[in-house]
Amino acid sequence: MKTIQTLINGAFRESKTTHFTTSLSPLTQEVLAKVPCMLKSEIDEAATIAHNAYLEWKNTSIMHRTRVMLEYQGLIKKHLNELAEILSIEQGKTIDDAKGDITRGYEVVEFACSAPTLLMGETVENISRAMNTFSYRQPLGVCAGITPFNFPGMIPLWMFPLAIVAGNAFILKPSEMVPQTAMRLAELFMQCDVPKGILQVVHGQKEQVDMLLDHPLIKAYSFVGSPKVGAYIYSRATANLKRAQALVGAKNHMVIMPDAHEEQVINALVGASMGAAGQRCMAISVALFVGDSKKLIPKLIDKLKAIKPGAYNDPNAAYGPLITKAALNRVLELIENGIKEGAELLLDGRGIEIKEYPNGNWLGPCVFGNIKTHMEIYKKEIFAPVLCVLEVKDLNEALEIINNNEFGNGTSIFTNSLSSSSHFIKEVAVGQVGVNIPIPVPLPFFSFTGWRGSFYGDLHAYGKQAIIFYTETKTITQKYFLQEDKDGVVFNFQGN
Ligand code: NAD
Repeated sequence: MKTIQTLINGAFRESKTTHFTTSLSPLTQEVLAKVPCMLKSEIDEAATIAHNAYLEWKNTSIMHRTRVMLEYQGLIKKHLNELAEILSIEQGKTIDDAKGDITRGYEVVEFACSAPTLLMGETVENISRAMNTFSYRQPLGVCAGITPFNFPGMIPLWMFPLAIVAGNAFILKPSEMVPQTAMRLAELFMQCDVPKGILQVVHGQKEQVDMLLDHPLIKAYSFVGSPKVGAYIYSRATANLKRAQALVGAKNHMVIMPDAHEEQVINALVGASMGAAGQRCMAISVALFVGDSKKLIPKLIDKLKAIKPGAYNDPNAAYGPLITKAALNRVLELIENGIKEGAELLLDGRGIEIKEYPNGNWLGPCVFGNIKTHMEIYKKEIFAPVLCVLEVKDLNEALEIINNNEFGNGTSIFTNSLSSSSHFIKEVAVGQVGVNIPIPVPLPFFSFTGWRGSFYGDLHAYGKQAIIFYTETKTITQKYFLQEDKDGVVFNFQGN
């Protein structure tokens, strides 16, 4: 059986721990790998080495750091198919979805290639007589990232390329359920021209995350995962007076106006609610049918009856299995509770069998009607191919429901009316908003952060402001002398 290695000081090696978890195939329950819960001494070693690597790396030229990212994006592109297969096998999503997962991460690496522009500071001349101010963006030091199971490629790539190109060192703690994609991405990164300790990969669970959170040499954290764990990590990191951002849970609503294009609505809902088995933080899990648009509900259900989950390499599979038996059992319990609470299971995907993989964590498409907003099935993030359907009288009622939900990650409206879409864009209290787009994930040059219970922190993933000043510019390159240059040099600050 494969044992997952650690990456410390540029070397892939086994941990000395005796405590392991296992990563299981969601298709067969076969053990794919043993994952170490690393020792404190190993986490300390990783932090110290990362800190030393940062001290060297922060002084490398920005062009060198940019070239590393150019090299890395070439390697990811070259290995796309291989990475997608590793990802599909351990996570279960279809090969097409896995390629999308890697490609969304690859786009962040491409974005990191514009580091010289991204890292530009600001200047103002004459803030007082003969006095100018300029600002630099300087790295923080060692940063750490803790990532979830659902995007094993994209989410690690959200984090370490941007941190490293800015001059930081990075410690990645991938999800113990899907560590192999992250390890392969790390192997490819280490083929680039980087110092040995600039990226380290450690493994484990809560105990190891606590070691990272409390380590004095680690200055900032990015977390993506479930709300409870995110709240814990954010609180512990900030109690340690560190910087932290946590991108967490979601309950994303799609509003269907009566004037929306029928076929587009149905296709969008099928893909956005069931795609990737609903295990996406931007999946649509609630459909709000406004007025007459409720006539589309039977058509939606007919379309959903025609799709089926399947293995990652089955070209007819609409999506894959859930990640674990525990995840499946949790969803089955939520469905039972929904029925007990009075919701109506309009489409029941429980008990679906896929002949070749009888032990897979399968759940067919499920749709709940007669939903009330106090119900657990409405309030909780389900993270599965389960859609809740509500009928509302107008757009304002839809907005009230969305804005009162605990989460505010993504939302969408389908309409042909400019005034409905404009009103929605202005009034909805959600981070990512789509108009006739069901899953509005922005490209890396826009920020990606939820509102309310979907995001903790004020360090936005990338908080670029869209303000352009049309001016002439003058660039001044100022050389200063290092201490060792000073011997024998007479400084004349008055002239030349
Ligand atoms: P999770 O919170 O269980 O695990 C995420 C990471 O935290 C893993 O690396 C895990 O080892 C670690 N962890 C787990 N328990 C911990 C604890 N008690 N203390 C410290 N660390 C701990 O999340 P998951 O199930 O892997 O991922 C699914 C969740 O991620 C969903 O809620 C989903 O909405 C969310 N998610 C959010 C976004 C976003 O951008 N908002 C993106 C993807 C996923």
